[in-house]
Amino acid sequence: MLFNIYISEIPDTVSIQYGYADDLALLFSHKCWSQVEDVLSLDMQRIAEYLSAWRLRLSTAKTTCTAFHLNNRESSRKLAVTVNGTIPYTQNPAYLGVTLDRQLTFRQHLEGLCCKVKASKCLLRLLAGSTWGAHASVLRTSALGLVYTAAEYAAPAWCRSIHTKKLDVALNDTLRIISGCLKPTRRELLPVLSGNPPAHLHRDHSTLKLALQAQLNTNHPLHTLSIVHSFLAHSACIHDAPFCRHAAVLIKSGFNILESLRAAWESATPPAQFLVTPAVCLPSGSELPRSLWEALNRLRTGVGRFGKCLYRWSILDTPKCICGAEEQSANHLTFFHPTFLFDRFKCLMLFTNLHFSSIIQHSCMEKKCSGCL
Ligand SMILES: [Zn+2]
Repeated sequence: MLFNIYISEIPDTVSIQYGYADDLALLFSHKCWSQVEDVLSLDMQRIAEYLSAWRLRLSTAKTTCTAFHLNNRESSRKLAVTVNGTIPYTQNPAYLGVTLDRQLTFRQHLEGLCCKVKASKCLLRLLAGSTWGAHASVLRTSALGLVYTAAEYAAPAWCRSIHTKKLDVALNDTLRIISGCLKPTRRELLPVLSGNPPAHLHRDHSTLKLALQAQLNTNHPLHTLSIVHSFLAHSACIHDAPFCRHAAVLIKSGFNILESLRAAWESATPPAQFLVTPAVCLPSGSELPRSLWEALNRLRTGVGRFGKCLYRWSILDTPKCICGAEEQSANHLTFFHPTFLFDRFKCLMLFTNLHFSSIIQHSCMEKKCSGCL
């Protein structure tokens, strides 16, 4: 704060200034390379003189310049900005923790982020292992703190990148650790079992939050630039800035993370024994010890050590059940297998709050094996 007061009289420049604490960025856009170089050199010189007058020194070691453009022919062209010598040119500068690149695809940033998320995921895996066997609520809280905080940093800037898929793979693995599900489990079931909406909905939520802040706060940099403001006021117009387009769509549609999760769930086709509905909290059964929570969710998803799955994975020679049924699936074990007649009611109570009569009716309607109720 004191530093900002100290440098409050920093001279105006032709290029736009973006400052955060002692980090200052100058942005100038023009079709001609020499024009960009001249303007930035002059502006940098002006700032260096101001700093020198107030007994501050420009850190030349930390100062870099970068050009952002889509012209591949000029991909190797380097900007020549000079102030007390030529400023080094960087292909991938890191500004406020985000690694940028020439085409703003954020590939390098997301690759680095994937490595961070994978490291945090390993810690979670240890917590969920047989030694610790942490409860689902502990794992979920740890995942939100360790993994999602890092994975959502500056998300409105890079969330439209095609490279987010790499990050989503790592985040889906995190949901598998929380729910105790196996790798072949369908992705759409994981957010429901872990009480955590999918990563793209988290990012849309962050974008909407930022857009609303920019719209309401007149001192916000995005508001001053009239990017969000002008576009949202005339949402029918076509704007080149992807953030604005994305934000306008979210605001116009009245985006809500839970409603979006429920809308996506309506088009999903969960297994018959999957009787949980989407929420932003863990489903019933999460208070159970880790081993039981795992078994419960594998029964819900139908992916586990069942005859059907073991046969598909070439571990067993037949998918048949010992009761004579053609296929030993999670559905069969849940609703029809005779051995679990008495345990069935206790187990099904953990699935949902559905009334017993509806469960009994369901199992009788789908009678398949001789040992059915
Ligand atoms: Zn059976």
